[in-house]
Amino acid sequence: MSTKKSGEKSTKLVYEFVIVVLLLVIIILCVIIMNKRNNPDPIIKVTPTPEPTGTISTEEPTQTPKPTVTPYELVEYKGRIEHIFFHSLIAFPELAFTQTDKKALVTSTWFKDFVTVSEFKKILQALYNDGYMLINANDIFEERTVDGVKRYEVKTFLFPKNKKPLIMSFDDTNYYSNKLGYGTVDKLILDDKGKVVTYTRMKDGREIISDDNEYIPIIDKFVEEHPDFSFNGAKGMICLTGFDGILGYRTHRDSPNRESEIEKVKPIVKALKDTGWYFASHSYKHDAMAGYNVAQMRDCAQKFKNEVTPLIGETKIYVYPFGSWKTGEVQDILYKEFGFTYFCSVGVNYYIKTRADMNYILFQDRANIDGWTLVRNGHLLEKYKDWGTPRFPSMIVDDIYNEEERGISRQEAMEIYSEMDNS
Ligand SMILES: [Zn+2]
Repeated sequence: MSTKKSGEKSTKLVYEFVIVVLLLVIIILCVIIMNKRNNPDPIIKVTPTPEPTGTISTEEPTQTPKPTVTPYELVEYKGRIEHIFFHSLIAFPELAFTQTDKKALVTSTWFKDFVTVSEFKKILQALYNDGYMLINANDIFEERTVDGVKRYEVKTFLFPKNKKPLIMSFDDTNYYSNKLGYGTVDKLILDDKGKVVTYTRMKDGREIISDDNEYIPIIDKFVEEHPDFSFNGAKGMICLTGFDGILGYRTHRDSPNRESEIEKVKPIVKALKDTGWYFASHSYKHDAMAGYNVAQMRDCAQKFKNEVTPLIGETKIYVYPFGSWKTGEVQDILYKEFGFTYFCSVGVNYYIKTRADMNYILFQDRANIDGWTLVRNGHLLEKYKDWGTPRFPSMIVDDIYNEEERGISRQEAMEIYSEMDNS
């Protein structure tokens, strides 16, 4: 009996202890919740969703663990917004750098205006190492009305702490008919998983499909591996003309198979837009705007609106061919009649401004990172000219420049350019 009684007593004690502990836990939880309510966390956190992974292989997709990213701490960004630009990549250097005469080689458009796949990959890594993160150019500016006049200005926006916003644009992703076979790919296509890859038909009849020889699939993969290189899923700005179709498809007015090409390009445009890519006008004809009169400008912009806008959607961004522009009534047509509000030119030094002499549109120069800059202007990429502060410190041009592919050393190319300066 006495054993049973003492057993009952100890069980009762245990129950009482558990109840006290539970009460204590509830009280502590209440205190934490009340405290949280009174002092809400001031930091806005966004967890970026990495793109689903996948390759061209026909194997069943395996459960690849998705890269994990710590939530970003967003802070108001008021610093510089870099904008760099490229053309399509040289996927086949042996087709691009063919001149045996060294001067002809280094003055060719393929040498001066392009970078190769290997160079581009090093550039991407350098940008990432320096804390740059892609942003959609449409998200950096806003319309304001001051004294009844509309102005287009860089806005203050939230951006991950310790990251620097970067706009990357790519001109002439048209794969012009008369430029095929000189080292770029022929067109963009979709693989069996709906990913944008490239197609190239070589002279010997071989067909090459790749996800590793043009900027679009390369950046797509880079962002999959480094989700913190893309803010809100942004990729790059694709700048298109219209006179020879877009993205390798002959969608222009006098194309013999225009209708079928339009149908073929639609799913590619959709796949690009769905994965963070966005479009800008690079004019219809790719002429130097500084030489245009009012009628020519209107005709050029109208053709773009008729033939390209229906395929890619509206855009406010205009990218001058050759970086050529002028102020005045010819330029004004682009804003007043066609609604462009953000204009991009070319200039390796940093420049972004709302221009009173151009109806208060936003104007930005884009640093051209190409053969010319790699050979001659590395110092302008390293530090800001005006401030002397680091710009792209990891972009070591000597390391990026690919002598083997280009067929001439950087030093020798530099000497030829210098000789031309002096002659
Ligand atoms: Zn161009």
